[in-house]
Amino acid sequence: LVPRLRPFTSTIFAEMTSLAVANGAVNLGQGFPDTDGPAAMLAEAQKAIADGINQYPPGPGRPELRAAIAAQRSRYGTPFDPDSEILVTVGATEAIAASLLALVEAGDEVILFEPYYDSYAASVAMAGATRRVVSLVEEPSGRFGLDVDALRAAVTPATKAILVNTPHNPTGTVFTQAELEAVAAVCIEHDLLAITDEVYEDLLFDGLAHVPLGSLPGMAERTLTISSAGKSFNCTGWKIGWVCGPAELVAAVRAAKQFLTFVGGAPFQPAVAHALNHEGAWVQQLRASLEDKRDRLSAGLAEAGFGVRQTAGTYFVCADVRPLGFSDGLELCRELPGRIGVAAVPVQVFTDNPDRWRHLVRFAFCKKDDILDEAISRLHKLA
Ligand code: PMP
Ligand code: GLN
Repeated sequence: LVPRLRPFTSTIFAEMTSLAVANGAVNLGQGFPDTDGPAAMLAEAQKAIADGINQYPPGPGRPELRAAIAAQRSRYGTPFDPDSEILVTVGATEAIAASLLALVEAGDEVILFEPYYDSYAASVAMAGATRRVVSLVEEPSGRFGLDVDALRAAVTPATKAILVNTPHNPTGTVFTQAELEAVAAVCIEHDLLAITDEVYEDLLFDGLAHVPLGSLPGMAERTLTISSAGKSFNCTGWKIGWVCGPAELVAAVRAAKQFLTFVGGAPFQPAVAHALNHEGAWVQQLRASLEDKRDRLSAGLAEAGFGVRQTAGTYFVCADVRPLGFSDGLELCRELPGRIGVAAVPVQVFTDNPDRWRHLVRFAFCKKDDILDEAISRLHKLA
């Protein structure tokens, strides 16, 4: 393995999921739902296969899916031209990788906020570029917010892009309008690209509304907006994602994408188009149900003795393990499946400064209530 990829040999999700399987543990580590998406969407995929939609789709994605993505994005007031400004990808993961491969190279720096989703650092490395990491800061409320001064201090003449994820995995932070405006101001002042990961755009709680960075003044022309169907429609294994942005940037991403996978997921594309066009009510129910699950797991973790942090979106809640007498989240997560039959994910592995994040563990609440209750009852054994 080439040196720049040596830090990325195995993902924490693979490690913790295999520990969970080996120990018959309740898996609150890897974030994937344990129920299916809307029945009509599943039927559309089956119909697409039966109808012979089984060969290579068009390079940019099937037209009905690009049209559905354009219609969905128009809710944020940012119209995209389905022919030149939208590219369908193999999940958000490929969209992120192809965007970085197309737009940054050796000598360029990309700013990430830590904790960062693991693929960002690996994709920056694959592109040959260097990451500069800005730590989110814990507020007294237990929310993790943006440190604007630290962001400004991280910009150098080599900075090319900022990668922003809201709602944020693993903290569950939903960036405020003011935080996004601060990011936008830095991008505009230093003429930077923004790459935004909005895969949890439908999973916000407490009445919060998703604000895409690309919808702020001066940002449309410099932002690549990435999302996918996995989280909105409980189909993480379908890997249908997309990237939207100005035609010139999307054309660049397409140049990289065509030699990664070329295309993918032909029969799933019409099914996701159907879901985007017709399953808004289903998504609202999913959001409400996840908000209940957020409350259920947060309360259970607190009762079990964890220091539970705030989360306003995503599948995840972070919890401090120190009140239970532990000091290292990674050690604890390696022990938990065997000891009490629960799997979780340590936050420090998503950072460049593990000491700052060692005390936090991420739990996924995108699971059936009885599964969450079982995990909670097992976690009580830690006290
Ligand atoms: N970004 C974030 C923040 C995620 O949590 C995930 C995975 N759940 C992805 C990207 C990957 O999305 P996809 O499965 O569509 O590739
Ligand atoms: N995104 C999911 C998570 O954060 C897992 C994706 C993966 O396994 N790579 O848990």
